[in-house]
Amino acid sequence: GDDGRPVAFDNSYARLPDVFFAPVDPSPVEAPRLVAFNRALAGELGLDADALERHGAGYFSGNVALPGSLPLAMAYAGHQFGQFVPQLGDGRAILLGEVIDRDGRRRDIQLKGAGQTPYSRRGDGRAALGPVLREYIVSEAMHALGIPTTRALAAVATGQPVYRDRVLPGAVFTRVAASHVRVGTFQFFAARSDTDNVRVLADHVIDRHYPALKGAEQPYLALLDAVADRQASLIARWLGVGFIHGVMNTDNMTISGETIDFGPCAFMDRYDPRTVYSSIDRNGRYAFGNQPMIGQWNIARLAEALLALLSDDQDKAVEMANSAVGRFMERFQAHWKAVIRAKIGLGADEEDDDQGLIRDLLVTLYEQKADYTLAFRRLADAAEGAAADDALQDLLETPGALTPWLALWRARLTREAGTAEARATAMRRVNPAFIPRNHKVEEALAAAVDHGDFSLFTALNDVLARPYDDQPAFAAYAVPPKPGEEITATFC
Ligand code: AMP
Ligand code: MG
Ligand code: MG
Repeated sequence: GDDGRPVAFDNSYARLPDVFFAPVDPSPVEAPRLVAFNRALAGELGLDADALERHGAGYFSGNVALPGSLPLAMAYAGHQFGQFVPQLGDGRAILLGEVIDRDGRRRDIQLKGAGQTPYSRRGDGRAALGPVLREYIVSEAMHALGIPTTRALAAVATGQPVYRDRVLPGAVFTRVAASHVRVGTFQFFAARSDTDNVRVLADHVIDRHYPALKGAEQPYLALLDAVADRQASLIARWLGVGFIHGVMNTDNMTISGETIDFGPCAFMDRYDPRTVYSSIDRNGRYAFGNQPMIGQWNIARLAEALLALLSDDQDKAVEMANSAVGRFMERFQAHWKAVIRAKIGLGADEEDDDQGLIRDLLVTLYEQKADYTLAFRRLADAAEGAAADDALQDLLETPGALTPWLALWRARLTREAGTAEARATAMRRVNPAFIPRNHKVEEALAAAVDHGDFSLFTALNDVLARPYDDQPAFAAYAVPPKPGEEITATFC
């Protein structure tokens, strides 16, 4: 490309019926400054990275329109903490358009915090720098962990204040997604009994995300099952790395199966399924261990939104929907089993006692208040030899508490194929050394927001780009917070 057209837009969502969105231009900001730009992602998307970086402050603030973009706010509804809101929509996000990436996949490019839209309700349409940098760090870390996620292309500081409970520096985040269609997008039309547009939307997402279903005998039931499977897989992978989304409202669950909306999310340090960080999740609805159940609840809402498409006979449609919702939990169990077996070095050949072995490890880690990430990472070392056992047991409140379990595990591993060294290597590929620890994220955000110092932000991104490599020089990023360093609440 050249400076005239650094992004080759092809905007399929803008070609959908008018009710799907509201055209809206970004609102200009005073003093935009590009503070982060993801050149590798720009390359993956086939964009002109040089031109984008040179003019990044203008393009990624929304001050300068990218040629070929068709800015719009998407309409959607959603269940927020269990309560249905029939009209939400992009209140502070503006879809610029879509590109076809180097692998032929269609990707959305969206500005978040670029000003008010017809869906802003009482909101200012803006975002604060801290949450923007948090989404940048965590979504890129998620990608490096190998988990489907929206991506971070750029962050711009606006030079304007935003008013929350205190005055904060403003920012605009540029997000890339397979699409921004959510469970709540289906709910928007279903709540209006607009079956024709539920079908238009379903056909759009089948085309875009599930093209193999086009010829299916029951394409809409197949779509429901396919979304359920991707979400079941996604949530199993979240659990594998200790991720707590924090706001699993139906408007924050994608149809593509990507993680979206990194608000008050967090990675758990000490293992406890009841862990909640989100300051807005007062009843623990979205606690770490509740996520599979909430995933199923959200899929049930998608099933309801698709009911009219499933069959002309509504009793039959309900029956189909119910069985699909039931299959979600079966799929989750299968995905989770694969995740956790790999984490402890077991292959696909199951034995009767394996489930008990897995449960006993998790119970001990919980009772012993062990750090989730380090425990599994050090278990990988222990797979190479008992010399590493002490480092693992040092993570426990009572070192030695894992001795009986380690004996059972080693006896079990004698019936697994492969050398101890190969097993340890495989385990290190699924048990990260580095996650975005809350205290390190907060430290990096504070330096940037309070002192304009982005060096910790950059360093953290660099470490998190290789989460499965031992990076001895960055050992400080691998350890849990010391007493006094713990972050107990996250904000969006
Ligand atoms: P979220 O909790 O970020 O998923 O957002 C829920 C809804 O609130 C969405 O419709 C957002 O667009 C809207 N929203 C959040 N923050 C703002 C804001 N500052 N201005 C306008 N709308 C907002
Ligand atoms: Mg419209
Ligand atoms: Mg949202």
